[in-house]
This record gives sequence, C-alpha cells and structure tokens, in this order.
Amino acid sequence: MKVYKFGGASVKDAAGIENLKCILSMTKDNLMVVISAMGKTTNGLETVVNQLWEHNNPAAQTALQTIRDYHQTIIRDLGLTLSAKELFPDTILQMPVGTNYDRFYDQIVSLGELASTRIIHAYLVAQGMDAEWLDMTHILRTDSTFREAGVDIPASQEALSRKVGKSLEDASLRVRGERLVYIAQGFIGGTEDGQRTTLGREGSDYTAALVANMLDAESVTIWKDVPGILNADPRLVENTVLIDELSYIEAVELAYSGAQVIHPKTIRPLENKRIPLYVKPFGDPTAAGSIIHATDKKIDVPVYIWRKNQLLITLRAKDFSFMLEESLSHIFDIIHRHRLKVSLIQSSAVTISVCVDNTRYVQDAMNELQSAYRVTYNEGLNLLTIRGTSPDILRQEQEGREVLLTQLTRRTARLVVKR
Ligand code: ASP
Ligand code: MG
Repeated sequence: MKVYKFGGASVKDAAGIENLKCILSMTKDNLMVVISAMGKTTNGLETVVNQLWEHNNPAAQTALQTIRDYHQTIIRDLGLTLSAKELFPDTILQMPVGTNYDRFYDQIVSLGELASTRIIHAYLVAQGMDAEWLDMTHILRTDSTFREAGVDIPASQEALSRKVGKSLEDASLRVRGERLVYIAQGFIGGTEDGQRTTLGREGSDYTAALVANMLDAESVTIWKDVPGILNADPRLVENTVLIDELSYIEAVELAYSGAQVIHPKTIRPLENKRIPLYVKPFGDPTAAGSIIHATDKKIDVPVYIWRKNQLLITLRAKDFSFMLEESLSHIFDIIHRHRLKVSLIQSSAVTISVCVDNTRYVQDAMNELQSAYRVTYNEGLNLLTIRGTSPDILRQEQEGREVLLTQLTRRTARLVVKR
C-alpha cells in the first residue's frame, strides 16, 4: 500500500483532478489517497463560520454561494451531475452557533474535504476506476480538542483496518490482478460520538502520515505545486535550489521553522516506522522531487525559512525573581493550555521572551500571564530561520531590516524582524 496526498492547489480545478487521475493510473499499487479541500475552500468556509458567528447571515450566505458556484463549475467541467448545493447545504446557515467557536468551526469547515473527496471519487468511478470513498469522521478517531484534535491512534487503526485491512489480505483480489484505491479526506476526523473535528490548518499531510503509519505503508508521496523541497520559498527568493534528499530530523526542523511544504506533525508517524516521504511536483509526476528518509546526509546549501505573523512576548517577574529557575514551568503551562505555538525562546536573568504565532488564542494567554508577570510585546513580526548560515549570509540578511532579536548557533541563525 502506498499513500498519496493531494493538497488544495493540486485539485483546484477540473484539469488538476484529471491530472490526479493520471497520476493514480501511473502505478499498479494499492493506494490510499488523502485529499484536501479544493483550492482556497477552507478559507472560504472560515469566512462562512466567522460571519455566522457574528450573526451576519446575509454575508455568510454570500460566502457560501461563492463556494457552491466554484464547486459546481468543477463538477460541470468534469462532466458529473452532483449538486454543490447538496454538498454545501442550506442547513449550514441554520446551524446553532452555540458557545464553542472551535466546535462550530469544525462542523462547517470539514465540509470542504468531504465535498472534494465526493467529487473526485465520483469522477474516478465515472472514468472506470474502482475506487472506494472513506469517511474519515468515522475512521480517524480523535479527542474533542476542536480545531486541533488529538488523534487516538489505536482506535483509528482498528477502524481503518476494519475497512481496509481485510481487503488487503483478500488473496482473490490479487489473483484477479485488481488493486485497491481508497479516497479519504485529509485534515478531518471525528470524536467517539461522531462529531467532526479538524487537525489544524494544513493538517492533511499529517493525516497522510498517520494512515501510512497505521497501514504500515511502503511510502507516502505528497503531490505539490513545487518541484520538491526547495531551500527557500520561490515566491520570495530567486534561484532556489531543490534539496533532493533529507533526513527526518532536518525535515522536522525545516517544517517547525515554518517551511510550508510539509506540516510539522507529519514527520513523526513516518520516522517511527521508517516510512519514506516523497515530495513531488504534480505537474511533472516522473520528476524525482525530494525524499525524506533515514539518512545521515546533511543539507549542503543554506536554507531560508520564514515563519510569518509572529508576536514577541517578554515576561518579567513582578517581584524581580529569577525567571528561568522559578517561572519556566508556570509560564509554559499557561502557554500550552492556551494552545500558543512557540517558535523561539530567549532568556536573561529576570526576563523570558517567547516568539509565538499570532493566533486568536494569544489575548487570553496574555491576560493570564499578566496576573503574574509584567508583560510587554511586539507584534507585526516575522521569524527568519537560516540553516547552514555563515557570517556573510547573516550580514546580508540583517542589512536593511529592523531586527529585534538574533539567535545564533554554529549552523543556524534565527532573526526576529519587523514586517
Ligand atoms: N484544507 C485544509 C487547509 O487548507 C487542510 C489542508 O489543506 O491540509 O488548511
Ligand atoms: Mg492546503
């Protein structure tokens, strides 16, 4: 069994979906195909959620209609007869908002992946491919941390092998030379009582890694709109270089620093079972792309990674006590409980600074921190990580930028800069 993952950009129109079908046809392997919502659908559904949350129903309806029109066009271009209005029904607009934003969000935003997989599955079947649609709501069992659900691997594995494992062992399929193709949603799961959850934005890569781990897959391939893993974002830098091979550790470091090619949680389930991860361009499926696997090879070009929209919070004890010894665990307990994502830590005798992603959870965390510490902060920041840095490179990157903080080790420089 191989796992393929297609992101929103690779299924953003009918041509992309036709291309997906070609890529599936290029191999005879059993496939688990994990797919994101089409194009920018998740952003669109977030707008619907936010408008409903603000009780602005006309605006929600308009945003929903835009999503329907977009899907209907793709359905028509693929020659299918599905109804986008059934995939994104009016009941969305009548859903009780409740008091839990995250829960409400997950019930609506998950429809993007359900719709994309429905459409793609229908297209593959219409094209004569024997594919089966899976509903990950009932397979990827999670806790009820809505918007960032934790996956219960044993329960999910059991549900997945009930669906897939039996077929894998079915010798008669092999005799007939048939293979299995499953179409599954990335990013979404469900609680024990069947409520939909999501794994965090861009979480489809993580789904692919999880199912690969659970099925002991031979490999995972993420099909993307870039040639593979590059040493910098091609939208920001000219002359990027393809990194053809990297270790699991280097991949985690890159993803954590903010490299957008893979979700940071993707690597662990693969490393644990030594499953290789390929990142390949969907526009050129025979190209080698990049491979992440167990290797000692080090990346030999400087790598530039931006983590955007950061906030630098500085904490000082009100009573002048030493921060590191006395306060570290207290501070990080608060940070963890409020689901902040820390990108960098810096300390002195009486202060601790943490750089975090500027999310909607920040304010509550700061309020709680304020009760024990003097809190100051800077917003509108980006974090630049340079792996494989040199004095020349560092000087170049500092020049002309307002740098609030620099952290330097032998190979890596990290700069917190004003946007
Ligand atoms: N559709 C989700 C998102 O855009 C998940 C994913 O694409 O990985 O965040
Ligand atoms: Mg995506």
